Amino acid sequence: MKTSNVVARVNEKFCRGCQVCLDGCPFNALRPAGWKVTVDENSCRGCGVCVDYCPVRVISMIQK
Ligand code: SF4
Ligand code: SF4
Repeated sequence: MKTSNVVARVNEKFCRGCQVCLDGCPFNALRPAGWKVTVDENSCRGCGVCVDYCPVRVISMIQK
């Protein structure tokens, strides 16, 4: 399996908890966590799709 050296990171300080991003992840790596969303780094494949899904742009890609 191809692996990536980046993972998604949600800036929880600014996440609104709208969960729009959950529909965008093809690998089900975004998980509701209370009023926020967090990334399951074991499931995230670094595809970057979620970055464009977030209406307030609080998801970014970071080095593992
Ligand atoms: S980078 Fe891709 S796999 Fe990782 S959380 Fe975002 S959409 Fe899902
Ligand atoms: S789409 Fe953005 S604001 Fe909405 S839950 Fe996901 S990370 Fe948070």
